[in-house]
Parts: sequence; C-alpha cells; structure tokens
Amino acid sequence: MTGSVPDGVRPALESIELSLGFGAVTVLRSVSLRIERGGIFALLGPTGSGKSTFLRSLNRMNDKIPGFRREGQVLLEGESIYGQRGDLMDLRRRVGMLFQRPNPFPMSIAQNVVAGVRAHKMAPRRELSAIAQRRLEQVGLWGAVKDRLGESPFRLSGGQQQLLCLARALAVEPEVLLLDEPTSSLDPVSTEAIEALIRSLAPELTVVIVTHNLGQAKRVADHTAFFHDGHLVEHGPTARLFDSPAEAETARYIASAL
Ligand code: ADP
Ligand code: MG
Repeated sequence: MTGSVPDGVRPALESIELSLGFGAVTVLRSVSLRIERGGIFALLGPTGSGKSTFLRSLNRMNDKIPGFRREGQVLLEGESIYGQRGDLMDLRRRVGMLFQRPNPFPMSIAQNVVAGVRAHKMAPRRELSAIAQRRLEQVGLWGAVKDRLGESPFRLSGGQQQLLCLARALAVEPEVLLLDEPTSSLDPVSTEAIEALIRSLAPELTVVIVTHNLGQAKRVADHTAFFHDGHLVEHGPTARLFDSPAEAETARYIASAL
C-alpha cells in the first residue's frame, strides 16, 4: 500500500516515481503516493523540502517555469494528466488550487466567485448571482458581503479574501482541491474558519493540503506524508505518523516542532 489507498482501490490522485527539478537542480526524487478519494491528505515537511513543487505538479502548475523537469507520472482518476490529450483548462477545473496568499481577481466580490463558472461556461448568466450567493454561504462569507457584492475584494480582510478565493475555487465543482499553506498568512480566527471549512469539504471532495504546521495536519488530515530534503520519507494515517513515526527524520521534525 503506497499512500492512503488499499491495494485494488483506484485513488483519486496518484504520483508514480515522480521526480521534479529545475535545470540542474533536482527538487524531488521518485515520489510514489496514492491519494484516496474523499479524504484530506496533508503534505508536511520543513521549508524547502519540495512540498509546493510536488503539489503544483498535481495540476501542472510548474509546466511554464523555465527549466522545469519531470520524470514519472501523475494520474487523476487513473489517467495521466501529463498525457497527450491533456486539456489544461479542464484539468485546472477538476483540480483546483488555493495559495498561501489570497489572490482575488481585480473585479467585484460577486464576479470573483463566478469567474471560473463563466470561463468554463458552466451556467447561464441568469443563474450566476444565485451561484455566487450559494458559494459565499458555503464559506461563511455571505453575511459579511451581501451588501457589498459589487465592491472590490481588496478591502476585505486577509481571511475574508482567502474565503472568497475558496468560494471561487469551489464554484467550478472540482474533484480535488490543492491547498498550499492556505492559512500561513492569516490570523488564528481566520485559520480556524478555513480549517473548519476544509473539514466540511470531505468526502465530496479530495483535499491535499501543504503545511509545515503539525497542529494543522493533526486537526484536519486523515493521512499525512512527511517530506524532507526532496524525498518522501514516510506517510500514513495522521495519528500513526505522529504517535509512532517509522523514520528518524520524521521523529526529529515532530520533536523539533513541539
Ligand atoms: P517547500 O514548499 O517545501 O518549502 P519548494 O517546493 O517550494 O519547497 O522548494 C523546494 C526546492 O526547490 C527549494 O530548494 C527551492 O529553492 C527549489 N525551487 C522551487 N521553485 C524553484 C524554481 N522555480 N527554480 C529553481 N528552484 C526552485
Ligand atoms: Mg511551499
């Protein structure tokens, strides 16, 4: 068993001997990981261990970086995302992403929520405001913004902006959501709101969350993989990983973070 999926069950996402680099620098060596559908999977490890590069390879966000190299495969529902038939637009709809810093678009709050829905022509124009409301309600932002839907998002707090970006990501009904340290620029109250929301997404959605915060992995993730120095050290059910790490590197990281 490699990852959170029993043998014989098809994972939502799978990396197979995936190695990644930029030019002469190898960032990640031969990572094989199976990510179960409907679970919350944390990628944990110190800064520079390759977590973001790995996460970004799961929806081809590295492709345009000069010098980017890849060996190995990533399968989404059993099909290579790096295959010839790869439609990037469709891939990014199916595998959404949220970054460390909120990145609302320079358009109104309501338009932000439905930007992807419009780009993918997922709903007729008359339905857009109802979709915006539903997604803002889902992320707990409706009450705060219902009287300012036409305003710029940049006057919202950082936490509210991140919730808005989450609403936008959810509006296109992705199968997988990739979160790269989504709360590391936020205050504790906003962090709690985002974590609660993440927990509410499973099992409809598969969530992969990068964090260097052990507490966050413990609070939200069923499974955790520990990265160190460009390789996947070990992975398993989160409680098992923390209570009885199999590798000395993992144990050291856990001890240093306490
Ligand atoms: P983490 O998210 O765990 O902090 P990253 O995946 O961001 O780690 O980075 C892993 C390594 O890859 C680092 O040594 C970093 O300098 C290198 N790296 C990341 N992006 C690039 C890039 N665009 N060009 C060259 N090296 C990069
Ligand atoms: Mg990172």
